[in-house]
Amino acid sequence: MTTPRVDTIVKGGQVVTSSDVFEAAVAIRGERIVAIGPEAMLPPADRVIDASGKYVLPGLIDCHLHVGSEYDDWKTAPLAAARTGLTTLLPFVTYEEGETLPVAVRRLREEAAALSVLDFGFHVILNHEPAILDGLAEAVGLGVTSYKLFMTYKKRPKRMVSDEFIARTMDRLAGLGGICQLHCENGDVLCYLEDRAIAEGRTGPTDFPPTCPDWTEEEAINRAILIGKLTGCPVYVVHLSTRLGLERIRRAQAEGQRVWTETCPQYLLLDEGEMARLGPFAKIGPPLRPAGGGDHASLWQGTESGVIQSVASDHSPRVPAAKEPGRKNIFVDDQGRPIPFGAPSLETLAPLMWSEGVAKRGLPPSWMARVMAENPARVFGLYPRKGAIRIGADADLTIWDPEPTWTIRQAQHLGIAGFTPYEGWEIRGRAWMTLVRGQVVLNQGELEQKPGFGRFLPRGGPRAPLGGPVR
Ligand SMILES: [Zn+2]
Repeated sequence: MTTPRVDTIVKGGQVVTSSDVFEAAVAIRGERIVAIGPEAMLPPADRVIDASGKYVLPGLIDCHLHVGSEYDDWKTAPLAAARTGLTTLLPFVTYEEGETLPVAVRRLREEAAALSVLDFGFHVILNHEPAILDGLAEAVGLGVTSYKLFMTYKKRPKRMVSDEFIARTMDRLAGLGGICQLHCENGDVLCYLEDRAIAEGRTGPTDFPPTCPDWTEEEAINRAILIGKLTGCPVYVVHLSTRLGLERIRRAQAEGQRVWTETCPQYLLLDEGEMARLGPFAKIGPPLRPAGGGDHASLWQGTESGVIQSVASDHSPRVPAAKEPGRKNIFVDDQGRPIPFGAPSLETLAPLMWSEGVAKRGLPPSWMARVMAENPARVFGLYPRKGAIRIGADADLTIWDPEPTWTIRQAQHLGIAGFTPYEGWEIRGRAWMTLVRGQVVLNQGELEQKPGFGRFLPRGGPRAPLGGPVR
């Protein structure tokens, strides 16, 4: 009998799945995982990677970031992400004025494939223009199965959608096997509260969070859930920030509805006190919530109990010049244009979640595999190709060294934001190596692949994510 050789074996590490941690070697041939087991049982390999003392996680995914000309571009964002241990990106993109969805998807696919070092898919943001829905079926056929609607941002042209538009979109998506993502805040109420604050001269940075009360998130989540129930469309609540919203989602899940959600490091770790410290640079939507209001604890608990499926960055960096006018008026500039929302988060996502979640709060490594790999892959139609260490899956691995301690510095970052809210935070653990489709991408701080290595990932419909407590 001839033993077939494999290309690569990763040995000596603790393999992390979404439910277990066990010592095993992983054998890779071509782009796929072909065997998992004791090293002695595996075929000989051309390259052996010794991961002793490290955790071998499924390749980590960021399923919520913004890439494009006003943010980090298709070259920078994937390079920045790759250096932190991520292997797949699912950014939000927008179509151009007058473009149909299939035309936009083909254009963006070409643009991103030329520049991205990581594998990628798209979620497309739909504006309030019913004709855009005509291209939905073809775009789903091209492998873009997730679409985002904004229930707020009334002052941005066509950005906020009506409930009727939500229903029409969900109805179409339900029929096509897609999923609807929603930014859930009540835009009418937020607009009213903002205009009232401006009229009363309350326009400092710390005046912003009180114009977005927690119940406006809960109210919008409630509406999204009910329209989802009406239309039979899976609902995904992006960047959940409140305990109230979480409780509403928990109830829908208990009733058997396909309602899933994510939160972000900023809602787990930061509070509205950042507005006094960072001013417009901490203006994000939904806002950072009050300290001591119970939101942090509920959100952490939600990721542990399985009510919150995933953790993602919502990376939306802006150049400092776009934010600066917000020091004078946090809402609008001298021309009445909104001060942009958004902050950088991509380059701190994986280190913070390991350090704060696993190292500090004692969550099991499987928590990381669940909320940053398997669940995003399941919800967004990438599983089982991505998101898990299993035979036949793409050989995407994030090999994590739990030992190093280091300090977050903006100077380490590639993005355009020019700051990080986590400057000076002490971190435990870091990505040591990553593989994408069997090829080493990150190797002890250096990237071995170039922009253009990444591939577009056509995606299917959602699969139910893992539920129940992680421990
Ligand atoms: Zn976002």
